[in-house]
Amino acid sequence: MRLAALYRTDAGDTRLHVAVDGGFAAVDELAAGARRPDLAGLRDVGDLYARGADALEQLRELAVTATATVASESIKYAPPVLCPGKIICVGLNYADHIAESRTGKPDRIVLFAKFPSCLVGHADPIRYPAITTELDYEGELAVVIGRQARNVPADSALDYVGGYTVINDVSARDLQGTEPQWIRGKALDTFAPLGPVLLDAAAAPPVADMRLRTLVNGEVRQDASCAQMITGVPELIAYISNGITLEPGDIIATGTPSGVAMGMNPPKYLQPGDKVSIEITAIGELINTVAAAP
Ligand code: ZN
Repeated sequence: MRLAALYRTDAGDTRLHVAVDGGFAAVDELAAGARRPDLAGLRDVGDLYARGADALEQLRELAVTATATVASESIKYAPPVLCPGKIICVGLNYADHIAESRTGKPDRIVLFAKFPSCLVGHADPIRYPAITTELDYEGELAVVIGRQARNVPADSALDYVGGYTVINDVSARDLQGTEPQWIRGKALDTFAPLGPVLLDAAAAPPVADMRLRTLVNGEVRQDASCAQMITGVPELIAYISNGITLEPGDIIATGTPSGVAMGMNPPKYLQPGDKVSIEITAIGELINTVAAAP
């Protein structure tokens, strides 16, 4: 099952949809047809997970026979999770990215955070503000937490994953490199495109079998297996949830492989008009275009 939060043409509001052959099926309509009021009114994946395991299981069953009621051409995507409580990012989690960053391998897991205000959906613009001249991309696998995780061991940590999606950890390298904390370098508005869809964990291949590619204007910049992560998803959830309770809808960005603009000689930082496409096998392709912003 793959899920998307789509804007409705009749309102600024979003509704959860299931991706099916030829388009999408509105979860509201599936809920009405099956007389499942507990599946009605869901705006996004976060709402679904907040309804609990029974609601998720019911939607998985309804999704099997769902047919398209919304054509792909007529939709506008929101991020699959609209307003997570936390967006926790992992830094320096691929050896080849550590090398291109010209830094040593950290002796512990590097974490930083973004805000819900960073999130935008597939096809939304990445805003390039005048306070930076070194705008960069980082294609990453995003893990969305499906149920509350507190101090969970690594061997059961995958039970807490709701699904997987694609995130662009957009970065302003000059701000990141010259300020003592990474907040402005990593968390400006629109610095976390997410989507286009969320792949349900029950239907997902092992993370080690996923492959990530990032293209800028059609040029391949990143191409790596997610198996190359230094700290894997179970160990990240165990590490983070020891002290930070993860709630349904929380997002973990698992780090980027090599190929970012900063690592090129000379660096090919993003410019207004550039199109950034991040594809992860089995999930989909997240495409965003850079737009100059005041
Ligand atoms: Zn990153």
